[in-house]
Amino acid sequence: MQKRVIITGAAGFVGSHLAEKFLNEGWEVLGIDNFITSTPENLRTLKENPAFRFMEMDVVKIDPSSLLDFEPSLVMHMASPASPVDYFNMPIETMLVNSEGTRKMLEVARRAGARFLFASTSEVYGDPEIHPQPETYWGNVNPIGPRAVYDESKRYGEAMTMAYRRLFELDVRIVRIFNTYGPRMRPNDGRVVSNFITQALTGKKLTIYGDGSQTRSFGYVADTVEGIFRLATYGGLEGEVVNIGNPAEITVKELADTIMKLIPSAAGIEYLPPVPDDPRKRRPDITKARKLLGWKPEVPLEEGLRKTIQYFRSILNI
Ligand code: NAD
Ligand code: UDP
Repeated sequence: MQKRVIITGAAGFVGSHLAEKFLNEGWEVLGIDNFITSTPENLRTLKENPAFRFMEMDVVKIDPSSLLDFEPSLVMHMASPASPVDYFNMPIETMLVNSEGTRKMLEVARRAGARFLFASTSEVYGDPEIHPQPETYWGNVNPIGPRAVYDESKRYGEAMTMAYRRLFELDVRIVRIFNTYGPRMRPNDGRVVSNFITQALTGKKLTIYGDGSQTRSFGYVADTVEGIFRLATYGGLEGEVVNIGNPAEITVKELADTIMKLIPSAAGIEYLPPVPDDPRKRRPDITKARKLLGWKPEVPLEEGLRKTIQYFRSILNI
């Protein structure tokens, strides 16, 4: 396989780490981003590498033939607002990048004869009735609720990806990413880890939505990127859908307590009204990732949080 990959969303949190991983593995990378939920700052070190190219562009408006000169062997569609606050603020952009944007990037892969990977999400399981969630679970999503712009467009993206598999026998893979955190998250992206760390570092109360008994399973970005890299590059995985996440499940209240332990200047907790349709629990079943990719998370929560806190201190000058 030629080592040339197109990564959409390359200026984002996960996308920029992924681009770095591919460069470190000797790939040429063409990154695409329109900065709707990021800044060029995440590209700074990437741009120092001559094997990295970048195009500022809206994926939804791409002419697929314009990317063929790059001769990609792999196309990874990572672009999409991912924080609930972002997709509540940009509902149409979110729906378009995961629907029409996915079709455009599938067309690039089809015309280039390249492999395709779609970045999906644990949100396709909605508020799950099966716990933990295996890939065989179809989910429990409210199609008209506020989260639908994200959940349903990711489900559409998955369906479109599988349609290209069935119609054109394209080599496609789908990764369902569970909550991921780490350096290069935006302090104001509204996600729970960024909010809690920023609040604790600036002496504010940590805002818990609801009673804090809802659970999540947080994966450190280096682990997530390793899992995605293996799913994208290993042979014989055509049409596979794989969960990538850390099965260590904790409540939001326990997360707040852990962050307050690591940042003693934190000013306590403030309870706010619950978010509509907030999933009550979430935990990946990673049996498939272990079996197909020999992958499991390596970084425990406190270690990952320490690294993330260090990053937030540096960018906030604290
Ligand atoms: P992010 O917001 O940091 O990055 C997304 C990037 O996509 C941004 O740089 C944004 O500017 C870009 N983008 C959005 N729409 C675009 C468009 N139309 N054209 C070009 N660029 C566009 O989010 P992230 O956390 O890095 O998430 C990356 C991917 O992983 C997303 O597809 C997301 O749905 C998925 N995911 C992430 C998580 C997580 O916990 N971080 C969990 C599940 C799924
Ligand atoms: N949350 C919270 N306080 C915050 C931000 C989020 O209590 O300041 C909760 C949110 O309601 C959800 C969980 O933390 O139950 C994870 O939220 P996040 O937005 O990080 O991601 P989600 O898993 O909902 O996509």
